[in-house]
Amino acid sequence: MAQSKQSIHVAACPSCGSTGIRMVRRDWSGGLKGKRYVVKDLQYFHCARCGEKVYDPDAMRRIQAASPAFAKTQRVRKDA
Ligand SMILES: [Zn+2]
Repeated sequence: MAQSKQSIHVAACPSCGSTGIRMVRRDWSGGLKGKRYVVKDLQYFHCARCGEKVYDPDAMRRIQAASPAFAKTQRVRKDA
């Protein structure tokens, strides 16, 4: 209960203004310099009209965590 989750509500697509934008939950894939990476079960807003994607802070964090571009700066220490 103490957790105040930062969630955003997107009523209209920032790109085309369509109100058909809605939250989806699916495997998200991105590419960086020819390398593809996938974020499983990602929740984000997707506009059915123009294909625009809008991410909330939580989704951004997950994408960044999966991205090779952030792999070097975010070093995760594994306990041996
Ligand atoms: Zn749109």
